[in-house]
Amino acid sequence: MIRSLGLDFSAPDPRYAAGDVLEVAGCAVRLKVDRRATRVSLRLDTTRGEIVATAPSPRRLKEAAAFAAPRAAWIGEAVRRLPPAEPLAPGAVLQVLGRACRLKPALGPRRQGLYEEDGLVLRASGEGEAFRRAALRILKAEALKALAERTAAYASVLGHPAPRIAVMDARSRWGSCTPSRPGRAASLRYSWRLILAPYEVMDYVAAHECGHLVHADHSPRFWALVAGLGPDVKRARTWLRAHGPRLHAVGR
Ligand SMILES: [Zn+2]
Repeated sequence: MIRSLGLDFSAPDPRYAAGDVLEVAGCAVRLKVDRRATRVSLRLDTTRGEIVATAPSPRRLKEAAAFAAPRAAWIGEAVRRLPPAEPLAPGAVLQVLGRACRLKPALGPRRQGLYEEDGLVLRASGEGEAFRRAALRILKAEALKALAERTAAYASVLGHPAPRIAVMDARSRWGSCTPSRPGRAASLRYSWRLILAPYEVMDYVAAHECGHLVHADHSPRFWALVAGLGPDVKRARTWLRAHGPRLHAVGR
């Protein structure tokens, strides 16, 4: 729900609830309760593209909202620094593993996917939200394919059985590794958004997670192992730091 901050904050119990969205200076501010927080705070969530006002308890949500209200200028500035949302719609151009890829309507129900036409083309069916979801499915499938291939290659170099892999839409991590246990193979999870990064960056994350099949930490020997697998670690990490928020703006 959208609520205007024109409210009188001295009013008793306006009943703010976690998840409520306030409007401050034309920007959406989501209210959140974090029991580990010790005070109210305001921060920019670059992956979701929203401002979050956090309170340690539901009772203090009103305080968090009051904290956000006079900080409208900061909020407006923070939102202006966010990469613009990139809708998944016909005519849009995405980067797919470093190549420009134009989104176009499918030529028939069975003609959906990535095609080499006049350059790389993603064809999806449906209109509006249906098109967005179809394009998302195609991108996730492509991400799974590319990441499965690189994961299998690195696991094999490390003499490790190929782990199970999955793609998800994690907000804070590009990948994660659950090591193998007796009777259960290791499993790696990746952000599908890596398909929107250059090939070398996607490849680095696969090498990084495979490195965790051997070392479940970020120790010097872990980094030495990952570097030994071949990717340009420093360059890929710098790229992800600089462009990560933009990847999260796709399909928003
Ligand atoms: Zn790691």
